[in-house]
Amino acid sequence: MTRRKQAPTVGFVSLGCPKATVDAEIILTRLRTEGYELSSSYDGADLVIVNTCGFIDAAVEESLETIGEALDENGKVIVTGCLGAKGNIVRATHPKVLAVTGPHAASEVMAAVHQHLPPLSPNEHDPFVDLVPPQGIKLTPEHYAYLKISEGCNHRCSFCIIPSLRGDLVSRPIGEIVHEAEKLVEAGVKELLIVSQDTSAYGVDVKYRTGFVGGRPVKTKLVDLARELGLLGVWVRMHYVYPYPNVDELLPLMAEGKILPYLDVPLQHASPRILKLMKRPGDIEKTLDRIAAWRTVVPRLTIRSTFITGFPGETEQEFDQLLQFLDAAELERVGCFAYSPVEGASANALPGALPEAVREERRARLMAHQEDISTRRLEQRIGQTIEVLVDDVDDEGAIARSSADAPEIDGVVYVTDGHELEIGQFATVTVTDCDVHDLFATLA
Ligand code: SF4
Repeated sequence: MTRRKQAPTVGFVSLGCPKATVDAEIILTRLRTEGYELSSSYDGADLVIVNTCGFIDAAVEESLETIGEALDENGKVIVTGCLGAKGNIVRATHPKVLAVTGPHAASEVMAAVHQHLPPLSPNEHDPFVDLVPPQGIKLTPEHYAYLKISEGCNHRCSFCIIPSLRGDLVSRPIGEIVHEAEKLVEAGVKELLIVSQDTSAYGVDVKYRTGFVGGRPVKTKLVDLARELGLLGVWVRMHYVYPYPNVDELLPLMAEGKILPYLDVPLQHASPRILKLMKRPGDIEKTLDRIAAWRTVVPRLTIRSTFITGFPGETEQEFDQLLQFLDAAELERVGCFAYSPVEGASANALPGALPEAVREERRARLMAHQEDISTRRLEQRIGQTIEVLVDDVDDEGAIARSSADAPEIDGVVYVTDGHELEIGQFATVTVTDCDVHDLFATLA
């Protein structure tokens, strides 16, 4: 009979974007597989891992503060994630951390954990008793999951340091992604959120080589991946899709209901000169035509995009060009950031840096401008019968999302008579009203 001993316990703090969440899930799964316990408090842990974000200065600050807090409360801290790739900042601020790794570095993190908190030996823990769910450990609610399809990026946008943190594009094998998706679906996941730095580029690095899905040859291409995921019978939502010509191939799958009619297309600006300074991929001149063509194939398509206001040298006319683009594109969902210099980004050297007040004022103006457009798009849905996925149920009914709403970043659908619905359940509802971001509906 196996002798059980008190298991070493690891605390885990995860900051940052969905891609960082996926890294965290991989590390947590490995820890549990090796018999480590997980703790939700600093003092219950023998050691703490902080998964950091280094994207903008505010995120760097938050990450450094969290590391400081973990050191004060616990003392034994391993740092991983995007800020970890800038090891000198972490070490300069917190010389007492035990180890620092970059993002996507589960093996290095595990090596550091082994060094500072050795695992139980195999006869002290039983991998069949220390059960890890087959889909691994997830940090999102049970009914949706992020599915990372590649790591890194081949672009060099001047405001972004992700390529220097995460390297060039590396696509995951298609068979591995589909297998992970199948396990998630078997575990009850109802919605797969496809994430990467550049989803449209999936497979470019491996020249779209042929992989295998359940023994069948399938190309490492976005449309083939989308088709395979579309067979799983759950919602499949595409994020970080640049409007390259190959994206057109996804639209028929949306029209057939295989994947959600939703595209998250980060455009960042609409002035050709600013886009050139940003070194953005894609051709904005053609983007309006492409959007119009997409909507012809899929009239119910929801397009989400994000923009940056106050990029160095942005003139009032160029900002106005952006507002005019929003009028013409009529995007359903828009997010906007005031430009914020990121240490190490080449855009910092551009002339014409704008004061923070101007960057912020333009951001507020853009959001106010878009409000009318978003509201108009939502009003068009009043009276429609739509399918929703329930995220929460409370005294006021159910809070759900439609194909137009990605979790956490878009609006929701309040189902005012949905008290009997369950979290993770699909329901058919009729839209009765809307406000700027959200819909109100009753059961159909
Ligand atoms: S496409 Fe541009 S913004 Fe996106 S990760 Fe690559 S370099 Fe950064």
